[in-house]
Amino acid sequence: MLVLSGLSLVELENLMLDFGATKFRAKQIHNWIYSKSVSSIDEMTNLSKDFREELKQRAKITETKIKIKQVSSDGTIKYLIEYPDGECVETVLMRFDNRANLTACVSSQVGCAVNCSFCATGKRGFIRNLTYQEIIEQVLTIQRDTGLKVTNVVFMGQGEPLLNLDNVLKALKIFNDDFQIGARRITISTSGIIPKIRELAQSELQSTLAISLHAPNHILRAELMPIENKYPLDELKKALLDYVDKTGRRITIEYILIHGFNDTIDCAKELAYFLKNIKCNINLIPYNAVDDTKYKKSSNNDIMKFKYLLEHSGKKVTVRLERGADIDAACGQLSGRSKSE
Ligand code: SAH
Ligand code: SF4
Repeated sequence: MLVLSGLSLVELENLMLDFGATKFRAKQIHNWIYSKSVSSIDEMTNLSKDFREELKQRAKITETKIKIKQVSSDGTIKYLIEYPDGECVETVLMRFDNRANLTACVSSQVGCAVNCSFCATGKRGFIRNLTYQEIIEQVLTIQRDTGLKVTNVVFMGQGEPLLNLDNVLKALKIFNDDFQIGARRITISTSGIIPKIRELAQSELQSTLAISLHAPNHILRAELMPIENKYPLDELKKALLDYVDKTGRRITIEYILIHGFNDTIDCAKELAYFLKNIKCNINLIPYNAVDDTKYKKSSNNDIMKFKYLLEHSGKKVTVRLERGADIDAACGQLSGRSKSE
């Protein structure tokens, strides 16, 4: 059976030709799917009952199911979403103080091959890439469930987006064209896949690139991220300088703060030096403890000291708010498994 969500306006128009219906019907269906986010064809009330019946014979809205939904005391919602083949990923909806901003944190892969030692997703290993339809289904699932319109998307759920770049870029285009989510409201976070960063530098991408740096030198970074042995910091730095040079865009540097490991004054100074010539903002992420790891979150005092030192170097520094910590929806805690498994 045909799945309607994920189809572009042109694809819907072609489908309507098959049905012997007008292009205008395609526009109506498009609007029901991406703006009104209905869950059933019956809800498309401006289509005649006969036409809806005909459509229902051959098509359905989605094949994706919500397996688990958890709501945090701060309003964050975490979904475990199940695709038709039984694989699951997690998607998180975050509302920041300004209620007009609804940010979806989406997954790009089931599991992740990069295997960072601090990350719950990494512990699962790589299972498979998501298709672009499966990526956008995450946002549609949120919209259908809440009745709200997502305004921002961050690729900070499970998986390494630059190792599934074709699907991520296709999803990005649909977010732009069909969801009307502007490219500047989308962020792609990567562990630092250098050839793909170079590829992105050549594209006209208007979205923000965020780099998971997490350490100021090779030795510390290699301990957290095995990918440092393949794509080391000094080469990453060159790629980032070229990226900024080619695109003119400011990048975001993500840095998790782990108690006694990478949160010292020396680390802050070394990081400031490393980032000196790179046009970037810095986002400090208090580490969210994950089972089976030895790492602990930095104290608030150490976080503030670290922030102060970096700010002193002239960078804009933010500390990421912890959202959904009570439902394990905070950054890096998404394993994609239900607790009962
Ligand atoms: N694979 C990509 C995007 C997904 S992870 C990447 O690594 O960038 C999104 C962010 O959450 C990354 O910066 C990642 O390093 C961070 N993260 C992972 N586990 C975390 C944890 N336990 N606590 C805090 N941040 C974590
Ligand atoms: Fe993969 Fe990102 Fe987790 Fe590293 S932090 S294992 S790259 S999802």
